[in-house]
Amino acid sequence: MPTALAQRLDAIAPSATLAMTAKAAELRATGRKVFAFGVGEPDFATPEHVREAAARALATSSHYTHVTGTQSLRQAVCTATERDRGWAPTPDQVSVGVGAKHVLFNLALALVDPGDEVIVPAPYWVSYPEQVRLFGGVPRFVETSAEDGFVMSPEALRAALSPRTKAIVLCTPSNPSGAAYSRAELEALIPVLEESGAWIIVDEIYGELVYDGFEHVSLARIAPSLRDRLIVVDGVSKTYAMTGWRIGWCITPPHLARQILKVQGQSTTNPTAVAQAAAEAALLGPRDTVREMRAAFAARRARMVAGLNAIPGVRCPLPRGAFYALPEVTGLYGIRHGEKVLSSADDVTLWQLDTCGIAAVAGEPFGAPGRVRFSYATSESVIEEALSLLADAVRSAKR
Ligand code: PMP
Ligand code: GLU
Repeated sequence: MPTALAQRLDAIAPSATLAMTAKAAELRATGRKVFAFGVGEPDFATPEHVREAAARALATSSHYTHVTGTQSLRQAVCTATERDRGWAPTPDQVSVGVGAKHVLFNLALALVDPGDEVIVPAPYWVSYPEQVRLFGGVPRFVETSAEDGFVMSPEALRAALSPRTKAIVLCTPSNPSGAAYSRAELEALIPVLEESGAWIIVDEIYGELVYDGFEHVSLARIAPSLRDRLIVVDGVSKTYAMTGWRIGWCITPPHLARQILKVQGQSTTNPTAVAQAAAEAALLGPRDTVREMRAAFAARRARMVAGLNAIPGVRCPLPRGAFYALPEVTGLYGIRHGEKVLSSADDVTLWQLDTCGIAAVAGEPFGAPGRVRFSYATSESVIEEALSLLADAVRSAKR
């Protein structure tokens, strides 16, 4: 049939985070008050010095740039990596794309052959397994538990390795659990990672967002032995409240960077020139907004976790980083919602959206059944108001 659509998309699911964002926007458009804990997007404005740099760039940045980022932006990524992560890559290792999601997509395209396995610790960010499946790869999930801080043990990693293991994904701090690997936890993984012979993709997009003095340690810094197959993914979306600018990058060995250049050369060409100038200003500019945002997230985290734990039937661990809480909600199963009785995290999210206008994302697409992800990138007063509504709704719910 000539009008048939390509089959490769049949195996992949739409983005659950973006689906909930769209659902919340629809509800808001009907005039309903909606509490937005769905999408993982800082609610702060992009820092002023970044917007000013972009305004200046408007006068000059109106042409194509180098396909995977201007030399000065790639150099700025190296400078910031040395300053913030303690190791020094070179610009020929940096590929800038249209957000970290695009960069991860390029990596899946460049690395995954049909049948290749990619190890993904669960809970995981929704896009990792779908991108792997798109290229015929097989995500191999490694379960982690709240008791272990959602941190993968070396034994669990070793048990998941196979001759087909092509890559291992580590997201630290993690979306959706907020788990983050300490230096000791990373060190424990190094011998298994060395043994694996696989690519190691470390998504550090939340690396600046850690709390209570926790130190984010980069695997690339402490494991030089792995650097010839280590890939770091990062971007400006979270650290600098720049989600809409769409700038992310990966740091890879140069031969992989050349493959990514080929991919972008046949797809997007360069990311938007003005956005690149803005990202450069963010990376090299003053750090006070980063500190302010981190402090605000820390206060919101405390309020979010305490508020959730005050709800009967909800249990929430304290995350080390990112801006997500991932409580267990199985204690709410049995509540009546119209004709239905809640029996999954998905049911809980639909019920709380309906009864309280609370938009959050069900755990199932993150590999976290029985849990709901609350993004606390919203003000403390919003968190307080929403959670007290939720507590009342739970107390008065029919079972
Ligand atoms: N990695 C993780 C873990 C994320 O949560 C996100 C959030 N969108 C991304 C990558 C992609 O970010 P962006 O495309 O906005 O750079
Ligand atoms: N990463 C964010 C989230 O998980 C933004 C949405 C997305 O890119 O999926 O909500």
